Amino acid sequence: MRKIWFLPLSVVILFSNGLFAQGGKHTDKFEQLDYELADPNEYRAASGSPGHKYWQNQADYKISIELNDADQSIKGSETITYTNNSPDVLNYLWLQLDQNMRGKESHTYSTATSSIKHETHAYFLNKMLDPDFDGGFKIGKVTDEKGKDLPYTINQTMMSVDMPKDLNPGESFTFKVEWSYNINDRMAIGGRSGYEYFEEDDNYLYTIAQFYPRMCVYSDYGGWQNKQFLGSGEFTLPFGSFDVSITVPSDHVVAATGKLSNTDEVLTKEQIKRFKKAEKSDEPVIIVSQSEAEKAEKSRATDTKTWIFKADSVRDFAFASSRKFIWDAMGVDLNGRTVMAMSYYPKEGNPLWEEYSTRVVAHTLKTYSKYTFDYPYHKAISVHAAQIGMEYPMICFNFGRPDKDGTVPDRVKYGMIMVVIHEVGHNFFPMIVNSDERQWTWMDEGLDSFLQYLTEVEWAANNPKEKDYPFRGGPPKNIVPYMSMDKELISPIMTNSEQVQNLGPNAYSKPATALNILRETVMGKELFDKAFKEYSQRWMFKHPTPSDFFRTMEDASGVDLDWFWRGWFYGVDHVDISLSQIRKFQMSTDEAPKDAPEAPAAVTPEDDFNKFYVSGISDAQKARVEEKPYFYELTLENIGGLVMPVILEFTYKDGSKEIKRIPAEIWRKNAEKVVKVFPTDKEVASIKLDPFEETADTDVTNNAWPSKELPSKFELYKEKGNSAGGDE
Ligand SMILES: [Zn+2]
Repeated sequence: MRKIWFLPLSVVILFSNGLFAQGGKHTDKFEQLDYELADPNEYRAASGSPGHKYWQNQADYKISIELNDADQSIKGSETITYTNNSPDVLNYLWLQLDQNMRGKESHTYSTATSSIKHETHAYFLNKMLDPDFDGGFKIGKVTDEKGKDLPYTINQTMMSVDMPKDLNPGESFTFKVEWSYNINDRMAIGGRSGYEYFEEDDNYLYTIAQFYPRMCVYSDYGGWQNKQFLGSGEFTLPFGSFDVSITVPSDHVVAATGKLSNTDEVLTKEQIKRFKKAEKSDEPVIIVSQSEAEKAEKSRATDTKTWIFKADSVRDFAFASSRKFIWDAMGVDLNGRTVMAMSYYPKEGNPLWEEYSTRVVAHTLKTYSKYTFDYPYHKAISVHAAQIGMEYPMICFNFGRPDKDGTVPDRVKYGMIMVVIHEVGHNFFPMIVNSDERQWTWMDEGLDSFLQYLTEVEWAANNPKEKDYPFRGGPPKNIVPYMSMDKELISPIMTNSEQVQNLGPNAYSKPATALNILRETVMGKELFDKAFKEYSQRWMFKHPTPSDFFRTMEDASGVDLDWFWRGWFYGVDHVDISLSQIRKFQMSTDEAPKDAPEAPAAVTPEDDFNKFYVSGISDAQKARVEEKPYFYELTLENIGGLVMPVILEFTYKDGSKEIKRIPAEIWRKNAEKVVKVFPTDKEVASIKLDPFEETADTDVTNNAWPSKELPSKFELYKEKGNSAGGDE
């Protein structure tokens, strides 16, 4: 017969008050993100996938530009066809005039703060003086298709254009803009786009982007994205097609987004032959050699050539041009389709670039494709550009210059490999999974930095020479210096990039580390990879928001991650869990003595066992206790505030070890302190919390029993932070 327990009502209340269930300290760390996330609707489903009425507008460009190498300026004209796929009537259009950031009246200059130090570098003096470079767009004409003037208004880096009549849902409007601007000296005043001047041979190397008035995104979640461009927040762009004619000195070599469509007019027969060889090669093939480039840089063409590139389903267009370029390429097989990995670099990049750049591009395409979708474009280019890392569709600009005598310090080599992976990786986020960079930097930088780490891990694993590869982002303990900073210096990841202090760790390393922890420690690789791939494929060639990412990761995995997003993405807490008390017990079935003192904590594993008294024990329970007669009661405290899984390593007195993994939900009723009992069959010699340093615990001195000063405490703080530096 079953025994039925009848408890007095007062005991039931005690149970329900949580007295027996520890704590009753209510916190909201596990509350669902109902208020933080955007409401789901017919455009964005509650599952995180595009809704059944999802739409996005489109911008198709026909652009013609001239690059003037004599005065380093650009003159251009464009015809934009804008298609309104939204359900809304639009009565004006917004365009981005990014170069106006370099106009003399720019808010970038007027809102920049500065201070004076006793001694300072000339670079900082420039930040105090009024700008002397006039780099803003000069807008010539804005007309309709037939050349009739259209009214327009310029507000700093944004321009609205009035249409003769409202643009209804489903309609397109075609208009033209003419402009010019002076190209900035990237090495002197910085910039994602610009030129570098090489004094020794009196040549320029141009890496050009944001060079044309670009359509803003009009979206279901934010209307027009016309938040001013101040310099940090990157870009938000609609998809469309590009047909771009670039006129440059005839001795320049041009690399650009899109397919070169007049090959015979701009390449020599020999170059075309070499390119065909490269298509079938799994090693880089030289198309323009160093000696050919060195010869070209000694003379000056007086005539010009026009290079024509065409691209579909891209959100932007960028190019590089110089007579200094060496060019190599190889074919990359992606499930039977050949994608070209290519590099353009001046002799100053060698010997590093010819050895690594194109190979790293190829490795990146393969690895990222494995975690997301097959890279859909026909090529990916890495261009050598000192000091910066910057991404555009199919093309990116990357640093990594050897010393003048050709020696390549490890710092330069690994910096270059890292930045090429990172910038080529941006083809996936945000060039294809097209998030709003101006609003949420982490959605491209964080996801990209996360995959960058996995790609670096594979690079090192595939190359026996690289066993000491210096990983920066990724390993959880590398984020500890940032996570333990003063809270005033940390912003939630969900903060807009213009307001963030320490943008590198905030938008790059912290989200990348968080995703790495999510994959390794919280969800497991299989569930994570499935969900991450689902997100990538759902939002490929679309515009996702953070809510779409958070929801999809849960939707595809069946793991409630609201606590994780809340803690890591919306909060500034850090991880510091302490193993604050251990008590050792053995069971007794004697009658419990009255008024016995509270059992003391064990300071060392040699301390005596306390007794605890159990009444009403069954034979089955007794047998189980005989199997595991040692009871260790652990008190864990959450000092940092960020809830995390608890990973414990028990080392027994016979030298054997056991790992226990407990999900973060252990904290769901009391996020500050939990107590849990572990019965064991052997006596415990020591216990270690987070033994593999996988949770970014900022203070590991409170992670062990018996407690000891760990040498790693000092090592941990000695290690440099992992700010992303100059790469974007
Ligand atoms: Zn980046």
